[in-house]
Amino acid sequence: MIAEKLNTIKSNLPQNVTLIAVSKTKPEEDIMEAYRAGHRDFGENKVQEMTAKYENLPKDIRWHMIGHVQRNKVKYMAPFVHMIHGVDSLKLLKEIEKQAKKQDRVINCLLQIHIAREESKFGLDEEELKELLASEAFSQMKYVHIKGLMGMATFTDKQEVVQSEFSYLKQLFESLKKDQESWPHLSMEVLSMGMSGDYELAVECGSTMVRIGSSIFGERNYQ
Ligand SMILES: *Cc1c(COP(=O)(O)O)cnc(C)c1O
Repeated sequence: MIAEKLNTIKSNLPQNVTLIAVSKTKPEEDIMEAYRAGHRDFGENKVQEMTAKYENLPKDIRWHMIGHVQRNKVKYMAPFVHMIHGVDSLKLLKEIEKQAKKQDRVINCLLQIHIAREESKFGLDEEELKELLASEAFSQMKYVHIKGLMGMATFTDKQEVVQSEFSYLKQLFESLKKDQESWPHLSMEVLSMGMSGDYELAVECGSTMVRIGSSIFGERNYQ
């Protein structure tokens, strides 16, 4: 079942779009089913859960941290995490830099931008983004590499709302891309937007990375 759903979604995505299979709350045997079907990119939103799965599962899995990250948890994933999608403050980025340096490895990060109308979603606004990029601390970082942007649209049936939020993020992505030579450790390659309910629209709007959970693994049970 999982492998079939995965392959159906993959075959409908353009070649330049990477699929992150979001396995949060799901057991390791579900991940292994996708793994045996050839999949390697998995997303989790809790550091502890991701670390436990990392320890038990094949080491060529690329682990994506897609959730909100607490600074005191960075050290646990620093040895292995492939990409941190939810970077939304300079403070967090500084901690990632520190822990990446300790591990002597570069950690790929995406800056999360607040695009939804809802208050609750995390992320930087455009002004905070510019401030972060202009800061002295950021200019001196060596162990973080900013690979692009991530955003989550408003949870709504109104397609035009979701579309305008995704299009806004795409524009921001393109404008930073034009400017990317200003920073040695920034390259706009990844635009992470789109989930089970809205990934087709996200891809139309220019997404290069979709994060899909329930459409692959089924509904989550949080009990
Ligand atoms: C859970 C989650 C997803 C996947 O959600 P689905 O609706 O199950 O596809 C994508 N992105 C983030 C940040 C998430 O927390």
